[in-house]
Amino acid sequence: MPEGHSVQRTANDFNKKFKGKVVHVDSPQGRFAAEAKLIDGQVLVGAKAIGKQLFLKFDNGLTCRVHLGIYGKWRFIQDIDKVMFGQVRARFYNEEFLADLRGPTICEVIDKKAVKVIENRLGPDPTNADPRGIQKQRFIERVQNSSSPIGILLMNQEVISGIGNVYRAEILFRAQISPHATGKSLTLEQITELWVDSVKLMKVGVATGFMTTREERLKKRTKKADRNYVYKREGQKCLRCGGLVSIELMATRKLYWCQGCQF
Ligand SMILES: [Zn+2]
Repeated sequence: MPEGHSVQRTANDFNKKFKGKVVHVDSPQGRFAAEAKLIDGQVLVGAKAIGKQLFLKFDNGLTCRVHLGIYGKWRFIQDIDKVMFGQVRARFYNEEFLADLRGPTICEVIDKKAVKVIENRLGPDPTNADPRGIQKQRFIERVQNSSSPIGILLMNQEVISGIGNVYRAEILFRAQISPHATGKSLTLEQITELWVDSVKLMKVGVATGFMTTREERLKKRTKKADRNYVYKREGQKCLRCGGLVSIELMATRKLYWCQGCQF
């Protein structure tokens, strides 16, 4: 499943290619055909990502909401003569560009009120601009008031949007915080650091498309096996303390961490 940085990249792509222009929308596969008609031929006001959800806002007040889930995929095509058919749920296009959506968990057209309800439910997204620190404050409050382990809170989209398994493990390692520490037990400084570091790491992810988290490699192109401190490195030596990296299940997902460094 994509983490939030990749959905942000899709939003950026949409803004670059379609924002302010008329967009045609249809559904070659048919399942989205009736809803596609509601936004076909409208101008795209803007694309926005919150966590793993993408919102495409049109000038008739309607929004197309997409959640890729596990199997969903976007495909952007420059040469629209090379259009591929098949199980395309939704197709967005103009004279120059085309974006095909296949296999999403959610693809629906909703009104402003429904968008607001979803936005209020979703936790703050570290990849979105936060000039007044409101989103940071929302994160701090949600963590401070919870007696759940921080390893679970970081995966809860109502606490913070867009963090998945890779960033969860890596952000906690970098902060040297145990995934089992409860939200309540963390200091304000620790919680603030988790937010600030999420912003920093996910910015790298949005810019490069890679979830690099090792500090000395943030600005370099690095092969997959060398991008992270603990993610998928169970049984190998911790790069910081030399102990062995642990793996366990937390809320059904594999959790990677170093017991020597995180407490
Ligand atoms: Zn360690």
